[in-house]
Amino acid sequence: MRIIADTHTHTIASTHAYATATEMIAEAARLGLYAIAITDHGPKMPGSPQVWYFNNLRAIPETYMGVRVLKGAEANITDFDGSIDLPESSLDCLEWIVASIHDVTLDQSKTKVSVDTVSQLYINAANDPHINVIGHCGTPAYRFDYESVLPVLAQHGKLIEINDSAFKNNKSSVPNCIEIAKLCKRMEIPIIVNTDAHFTTQMGRFDGSIKMLEEIGFPEELVVNSSVERFEKCLKERGLAVRES
Ligand SMILES: [Zn+2]
Ligand SMILES: [Zn+2]
Repeated sequence: MRIIADTHTHTIASTHAYATATEMIAEAARLGLYAIAITDHGPKMPGSPQVWYFNNLRAIPETYMGVRVLKGAEANITDFDGSIDLPESSLDCLEWIVASIHDVTLDQSKTKVSVDTVSQLYINAANDPHINVIGHCGTPAYRFDYESVLPVLAQHGKLIEINDSAFKNNKSSVPNCIEIAKLCKRMEIPIIVNTDAHFTTQMGRFDGSIKMLEEIGFPEELVVNSSVERFEKCLKERGLAVRES
């Protein structure tokens, strides 16, 4: 299996990532990737950029150095209603929203984390038309009812992310990632493989995910970024431009 697009990457704008957008795009070009999405952390994450950064991402060309550059954000899911931390006016400027739960940005003051409350959070997020990808949802602390919620997310067009950083930095997530992938295989739910790169050397390296997916016999046709044809279809379905030739 070969992955041709990395749709969850960070730049120096996140302030705990260390390469510029230009450096990330140049590395994608060097690796021969078809596309990347620049998805810096939403405003609620400490040190992250504010709305002006997201609203002006259109300054970067749609295709640069031969790479389709999707303008996006990794929005923080901030409460159990599934709210995210970017206003409509910014979301309208963006093409690619990864929505993730992070400890520091989820308000747990009113609602306790449980399988039921996290399940409801994701069901609520499924109804947000701006969200494209559900980021690193195998985190053990935020386990949900995978079997009933994954199909709801899929019905609403949300892609389930297999985040390669699980195999490098967050190994406690690996058993859940495998369980999620096996369920997606059984229920024919499309997934996307991303790196969550915070530096150039992490981008486009999907080894852990590919190995796991091959071990469980995951069908390539359900991995939307495993060929140019499949990824272009995914972009077109979402009304997004394909790479300029
Ligand atoms: Zn980060
Ligand atoms: Zn990320």
